[in-house]
Amino acid sequence: MKSFFNVVLIGAAGSGKGTQGELLKKQMNLLQMSAGDVLRQHRKDPNGKYTKIINEYIDKGQLVPSEITHKLIAEFIEKNIFADENKYNGVIFDGFPRSIEQLEFLDKFLSKNGNKIDAVVYIDVPAEKLVDRLSGRYACSKCGELYHKKTKPTKVEGVCDKCGNTEFVVRDDDKDKNAIMERFKIFEETTKKVLEEYTNRNIVVKVDGTKAPSEVNEEITKQLNKIKK
Ligand code: ADP
Ligand code: ZN
Repeated sequence: MKSFFNVVLIGAAGSGKGTQGELLKKQMNLLQMSAGDVLRQHRKDPNGKYTKIINEYIDKGQLVPSEITHKLIAEFIEKNIFADENKYNGVIFDGFPRSIEQLEFLDKFLSKNGNKIDAVVYIDVPAEKLVDRLSGRYACSKCGELYHKKTKPTKVEGVCDKCGNTEFVVRDDDKDKNAIMERFKIFEETTKKVLEEYTNRNIVVKVDGTKAPSEVNEEITKQLNKIKK
């Protein structure tokens, strides 16, 4: 098995993980595996085996049980990475792992395939800024481009910059105060332990996520290019 360049993106809800993943994947030709997106794909499937349970957890802002999350993520990586080794240089794990249990699963899954996590990017944003960011965010319903009422509105009001579509969506879990608070709590209580473990392995790059997206991106690529050599 080819050895890929594998990066984990860690940051609280609203830290800019999705935005940075989007930029980074193009620059380094990586596959972006957003755990939230992988799970949300099953959210609206009326015949889906996991639809009900996934909806229940996402709506509460809690981590979807590992049996399901691990299975869907393994399938996604097998299908998109291991099935065609030449397509990408590696993977961005966006929003995964979020617990030590998930970290251990990922270690095993990658090592079975002759791979490992090479770098972890921690996007640091103070808690008080996060609520603001989440409450203004919305996405194009067609192409998924992310926007924010205050910091990144569409150039023409009501029209997607990327595809011209005029319909937008706000995630249900961003509309619900309790779900937002629960996601912050899980980050503080569970995901920070993942960060600690990776810090002990000396593979964490910490970036200031309060800066403009382009500046955060520049810092990330600068650091990752050093590691990649
Ligand atoms: P955010 O970072 O804004 O919370 P995500 O799209 O990463 O957004 O996650 C949204 C929801 O998807 C989470 O609240 C959780 O219910 C589910 N989810 C995402 N990542 C994981 C994961 N690694 N394990 C279990 N559930 C997850
Ligand atoms: Zn669009």
